[in-house]
Amino acid sequence: MKDVGYFAPSEIGETLKLLADYGAQATVLAGGTDLVPKINCYELKPENLLYIGRLGLDYIKEKDGKLVLGAATSTAQIAANELVQKKATALAQAAYRSGGAATKTIATVGGNVANASPGADLACALLAMDAEIALASVRGTRSVAIKDFFTGRGETVRRPDELLLEIHIPIPKGKTVFWKLGRRKAKTLSVANTSVHLLMDGKKCVEARIALGAMAPTLLRCTQAEALIKGQTLDITAAEECAARAVADSAPIDDQRASAWYRKKAGQALVVCALAQAADINN
Ligand SMILES: Cc1cc2nc3c(=O)[nH]c(=O)nc-3n(C[C@H](O)[C@H](O)[C@H](O)COP(=O)(O)OP(=O)(O)OC[C@H]3O[C@@H](n4cnc5c(N)ncnc54)[C@H](O)[C@@H]3O)c2cc1C
Repeated sequence: MKDVGYFAPSEIGETLKLLADYGAQATVLAGGTDLVPKINCYELKPENLLYIGRLGLDYIKEKDGKLVLGAATSTAQIAANELVQKKATALAQAAYRSGGAATKTIATVGGNVANASPGADLACALLAMDAEIALASVRGTRSVAIKDFFTGRGETVRRPDELLLEIHIPIPKGKTVFWKLGRRKAKTLSVANTSVHLLMDGKKCVEARIALGAMAPTLLRCTQAEALIKGQTLDITAAEECAARAVADSAPIDDQRASAWYRKKAGQALVVCALAQAADINN
């Protein structure tokens, strides 16, 4: 077994300098709940670990009509935060339902996004809310829309010398909800998940955002399904048609958690439930 370098800087400038020096030879370590299992299974052999838990990146604040989350904010903090519960409800729901207490205490929102799992719960909610990802390097900071962030399973547009610094969420108008199905009722990875953001005017849908997870190599934004209901009366029939459209373009896989066939059925049912809840449809 080879030695692994370990850095735990306490300043962001120092962290960015280390990332610039080591590039792809540095692996950012936040809560470690995705990373450490990969190291333990020899799936990943990092040269240098760069721990970011001492940078003070654990905060939630409201600024200029947006919620700003530090990348190292824990899932437990997000689930319990009143601002998030009130203004970005789907994210609080996703955080609450992501893993058990031990996991949520150390798992971070930045790790959930940077890990780019197609079934990541918090990232799914963030996708339905058009969140922006702030990436910092010694060259400065750039912002990437979350819909453009994921390029494949475990792959993103983040460059090796960039730190995911913050997540910015335009405070949604209307209602946001998150639904997931796992192999158990709670504390488990998603077989499929969805997040819906609807702005309604009575029974008419004014704006719609639909995200679907664990149904393709990346999280999906279902723009064609959104277009079906935008400007239309949203009743249960329209919700079912919209959900069918949402899963039509998905490409789930068979794995140890579920078959592709089951994932399509589950994903479609989840979207119907989420739309019905967000639009207050009572059959
Ligand atoms: C028992 C268990 C249950 C789980 N249940 C769920 C669940 O229900 N739902 C769910 O979505 N996930 C679940 N997970 C997965 C995991 O907990 C989450 O994805 C978590 O949010 C990852 O955050 P982390 O801080 O632990 O990331 P880490 O493991 O530290 O990092 C993950 C990846 O992101 C990179 N990274 C982390 N932070 C940054 C940053 N700021 N800048 C650049 N790169 C960064 C790391 O280099 C690594 O590649 C579970 C994990 C376990 C072990």
